[in-house]
Amino acid sequence: MKFTDAAEDISFYIKTYGCQMNFHDSELLEDGLIFKGFKKAASLNDANIIILNTCSVRDNADHKILSDIGRITDKKKKIILAGCYAQQKIKQNTNIKNKSRNKDKTGSNSIIIAEDSGYKELSVNYYVSPEDILSIPDMLEKEFKSLLKITPVDSKIEEDIFAKDENYYRRLEKSFNQRSEKKSLLNYSQYLKITEGCNNFCSYCIVPYVRGAEKYIPLNILLKTVEKYAQKNVKEIILLGQNVNSYKSPENPDYNFAYLLKKIAEIKNIKKIKFLTSHPKDMSDEVIELIGKENKISKSLHLPVQSGSDRILKLMNRGYDRDRYINLIEKLKSNCPGILLSTDIIVGFPGETDEDFEQTLSLIKETGFEFIYGFQYSPRPFTAALNYKDDVPLEIKKERLNKLFNLQKNIFASSLNKLIGNYYDVIIEKIAENDDYNSEIINKGIFYRGITSNERVVYLKNFDIKKMSEFLLNSTLEKSESTLVKVKVKITEVVSNKLYGEVI
Ligand code: SF4
Repeated sequence: MKFTDAAEDISFYIKTYGCQMNFHDSELLEDGLIFKGFKKAASLNDANIIILNTCSVRDNADHKILSDIGRITDKKKKIILAGCYAQQKIKQNTNIKNKSRNKDKTGSNSIIIAEDSGYKELSVNYYVSPEDILSIPDMLEKEFKSLLKITPVDSKIEEDIFAKDENYYRRLEKSFNQRSEKKSLLNYSQYLKITEGCNNFCSYCIVPYVRGAEKYIPLNILLKTVEKYAQKNVKEIILLGQNVNSYKSPENPDYNFAYLLKKIAEIKNIKKIKFLTSHPKDMSDEVIELIGKENKISKSLHLPVQSGSDRILKLMNRGYDRDRYINLIEKLKSNCPGILLSTDIIVGFPGETDEDFEQTLSLIKETGFEFIYGFQYSPRPFTAALNYKDDVPLEIKKERLNKLFNLQKNIFASSLNKLIGNYYDVIIEKIAENDDYNSEIINKGIFYRGITSNERVVYLKNFDIKKMSEFLLNSTLEKSESTLVKVKVKITEVVSNKLYGEVI
């Protein structure tokens, strides 16, 4: 019996928490497991192997993961705790038996893959660090082969499946290849990780401790992957990294982020390039100019500021001050009029006074962010901010968060109203779905949902899909298919903070 035959009886379920980086890792992991012959289970209850790809950026993520593990009562299920929270536990718990060790950026030994032993809180079989997630298919194949007493049919399986830094690119390239060589067409939009880890050590952030030092995926791997994706009808690439702006290819440091953007834009079938997350301190003039002049680059930018107070920015170790940030926003607006800007804000950082918070509100008014992802500060293990007293009471944090969101809602409403009468190229995404958010639209009839070049959602009243059929690459408007229809749209009205338009 071949392993792949036996593996079909072994099913897995991946639950992903946190950011797009994790979702990207999970989709590559799923490809790898299916490639080995494991079966994807429809739900957590149906699976023999449960993989939790976790986040630990905020304490509420930790609580959610612990509660999910607590609810898995079937002891026969194999639980793999992977990702940032797993790495946090590995670092905190010396009782976990290690199988492999290497040096991390902080100089301490970090366990790469470990069997649970003596850590009573969690009945977890394996802990897998973020950079080793793509080793899981090999690890499981090895484990199940020995359990099933199957003779290996693939003699080339590596003896040491555990991570070594030099193997990282090779493993990622293999995963990219598996994805691009799938028989089915790919979704028109694909994530592509360009960096892993972070060197910035913002004082509140656990990421550098759990994802390690920055690694930059070589340019040739990235470009080859995008070329292959483009041949599978992929039109949109979303570049991912904790700090994409610091990208420099290991082959040549001159191959920086701007160079990478230009090279991807040269690939004919790629129509749109998005990226996140950007760090203000590394946002170069070259990238700002490219956003303005390269049509393929999305006119929407997420640029986390975190606070409008210089005193707090310094305590956060962000590497820029308020003036530098505002200057960046001005350059972005003058290079790319109409750009949609969003940001992250942390409220209640240790020592944040009412005056500091007022400076954050004034920065938001000055810059005009249309979307704000606001968070209450929570202390995270290993971070420098643990040395500061978490002295802003919870009710003040909540109050500040509410003020932030109310301000953002007003800015959003007024910026939408300014768009009435404007014309945009709009990519038709799908028929608007009937959910809570859209129910009032659906009640008025069928509407198509489209996206402007600066990522604003617009609902189209008079879109006739039959007339547009010559533009369709496939006969469906499902997002899972490789379909992109671009139309010229005039914005006609704003109702309940939603844009409506007409195809012209
Ligand atoms: S840039 Fe700062 S906030 Fe972002 S991942 Fe790195 S340390 Fe964390």
